Amino acid sequence: MENNVRDVIIIGSGPAGYTAGIYAARANMNPLILTGMEPGGQLTTTTDVENFPGYPEAVTGPELMADLQKQAERFGTEIKYEYVTEVTFGEKEGDVHTVKSNNGTYQARSIIISTGATAKYLGLDDETKYAGSGVSACATCDGFFYRGKDVAVVGGGDTAAEEATYLSKLCNKVYLLVRKEEMRASKAMQDRVANTHNLEVLYNHELIGLEGNNVVEKAKIINNVTNEEKELIVDGVFIAIGHKPNTELFQGKLDMDETGYLITQDRSYKTNVAGVFAAGDVQDSVYRQAITAAGSGCAAALDAERYVAEFFEA
Ligand code: NDP
Repeated sequence: MENNVRDVIIIGSGPAGYTAGIYAARANMNPLILTGMEPGGQLTTTTDVENFPGYPEAVTGPELMADLQKQAERFGTEIKYEYVTEVTFGEKEGDVHTVKSNNGTYQARSIIISTGATAKYLGLDDETKYAGSGVSACATCDGFFYRGKDVAVVGGGDTAAEEATYLSKLCNKVYLLVRKEEMRASKAMQDRVANTHNLEVLYNHELIGLEGNNVVEKAKIINNVTNEEKELIVDGVFIAIGHKPNTELFQGKLDMDETGYLITQDRSYKTNVAGVFAAGDVQDSVYRQAITAAGSGCAAALDAERYVAEFFEA
């Protein structure tokens, strides 16, 4: 075991984790970031990011994450490319927490969890084949690249309804593929879908494949009632069947909602365990943007700093 108890360990290295690192390091908290299996998080799998303030000419996802990492390191954040295997939280205020990784055991007075969420995919080989070349799981991130084009959205929940209506403002035509004969989305969202003239809902339809020369040109779909197959001429497909927060490690240890998102307490980033904070997509099923994640990482670091000052320092 590392023999110093740190002020803070940050688990996860997306925009929330690195921003927490920047703030914690500048507050002399000697932060350690354990990156997890995907250093840089979801943004490392995207291409251009045009909506992160401060980059008027856009930046690629990997570049943005490399910049955030450099900025965190500049102030002394230590970064280890390790994944956490177990956490043991202290029971009360002033207790120390223990974090085990694949390569060591660490202790800290506070923990910031920023393990993110992972977009769910259908599991088709073509989703991987055309990743970043016509397949996306984020309309706010990538919709702009499909201006004036035809696209399809897969899913029947609020996310799919929201993505489809968002895309309808940018695209020529949007197909919404719903696998059942009804949508799960809220009534208000369904009304919005119904009232959007260039959005066509195809109930009982599933995506079964994609075709195109390097980029998506066609979506192959099936009517799961009649088994009739057909092709849609589209330039992009947005998979909007939900996200899975990365919270398996914390099952039974931290309060979560029914889908596994960590619950933070009113107007703070505190979890139900003293000295444990959560930031970014792991606690946010609504906004899920890099900039909102970064903002919450900042706030969680400020919360952690105050907590350590209150319960550990003379
Ligand atoms: P949901 O789990 O609510 O919906 C997922 C949708 O994807 C369902 O329609 C489901 O179909 C469909 N689906 C799942 N797997 C497949 C598959 N293999 N093939 C085809 N379709 C599939 O996820 P959301 O991300 O939509 O929402 C998550 C939570 O976030 C919800 O509580 C939602 O209300 C909330 N939210 C709120 C928003 C807002 O208030 N503005 C915006 C976005 C989300 P089926 O119905 O058949 O199971």
